Amino acid sequence: MVPVEQQYPAPYEVPPGTIGVDLVHIADEVAWMESLPDVDYDPVEAGQKHEELLSGLADFKEDMQQLTDLERARMGPYIRSLVPHYFEDNVPDSKVFDALLKKDDDKFIEYLRIHAEVVEEHARDVAPLIEAWEDDFIEDVRVAIGDGNSWVSPTAIRVADSVRHADIRVGDWAITQSRFHGAYYTPSDNRSITVSQGLGATRGQRYRDFEKNRNTYVKHELFHREFEDAVDPLADAWLGESMAHHVALSFEHGQPEVLDPDLRRDGDRIYYSERKLTTTVMDGIDPALLTRATTSSKRTSREWGELDAALENKYGRPDMVSLITERVNAYIPLYVETNPEEEPHAIRSLAADRVREELESKPWVVTGIRHRRLYRVSQAIRSILEQEF
Ligand SMILES: [Zn+2]
Repeated sequence: MVPVEQQYPAPYEVPPGTIGVDLVHIADEVAWMESLPDVDYDPVEAGQKHEELLSGLADFKEDMQQLTDLERARMGPYIRSLVPHYFEDNVPDSKVFDALLKKDDDKFIEYLRIHAEVVEEHARDVAPLIEAWEDDFIEDVRVAIGDGNSWVSPTAIRVADSVRHADIRVGDWAITQSRFHGAYYTPSDNRSITVSQGLGATRGQRYRDFEKNRNTYVKHELFHREFEDAVDPLADAWLGESMAHHVALSFEHGQPEVLDPDLRRDGDRIYYSERKLTTTVMDGIDPALLTRATTSSKRTSREWGELDAALENKYGRPDMVSLITERVNAYIPLYVETNPEEEPHAIRSLAADRVREELESKPWVVTGIRHRRLYRVSQAIRSILEQEF
């Protein structure tokens, strides 16, 4: 068990979301080794593989235990459709999940074997959808850049080629869902994106489930992937999540100028705390400065310079984004201590709420600047002195 502090600040540096599918390949290797004639059979190697399979199964089941009752109920019809002979007809869908977890390893592996085939079939089914969403993303960027009065940096046009080469995988619903909102980006693993499979009792239902609500997730993760040099999804997670979601929603539903989740028409509440903090930080500043900076080519771009200048003008001190990040990160150990059961996402939300409240009620606690005019005068004097000498 990893100490909880070490989970920060890496919400998406996680094991692959396709564990169930991978375990089947390990089970196949074990079966193959055990079928070898005595002269070729290596008991040590076979024993190690067997251990790998057992610990993988234990991890997988532990991940599944994280699911809420609602999520377990959602999985019921899916599981039953794969292994109907495992359950009596009178077991309700809401109890199928728990009944599966109680099956012995052989039965569980058998379920995983069918699950792996279904996910592979499903991945082939939804491949054209994913490709269409990549096309959408490229087209959305093009439209947003527009004719000069844009809310996306003109340099973002470069993503057209890169998005086409994105490695987007379909993962186990139970695994992605036990930790995430249905998708995530893994920089260390081929910069891949993992999207959770669609659920349902039939191939068609699974396709429609995927089609219905995975497009925003895919665009959110594409934002992380394509603009990680402009806003680091790990280091400045509060801003990275805010902007990945805001831009994805704006591509889907419009209103790029409305940062506040409470004022947007889509009603989406994902990353609510982070987006509320961003709204407060940006209050009174043109939101296009933020969307252009975070879709520019790098943290030192001209667009970032313009945003930093606007923030400095508002708060009376430079490096506001780094300052907010430090402040959020400083509260994380505190909230880990007082909420040991909470997920990393929830902990960061609490820290973001706290910093937002401070910015709203007593900004000088965050900025260290009580008198903005005094700061401006001192800056003006300094710049005169620098010119003189
Ligand atoms: Zn994200």
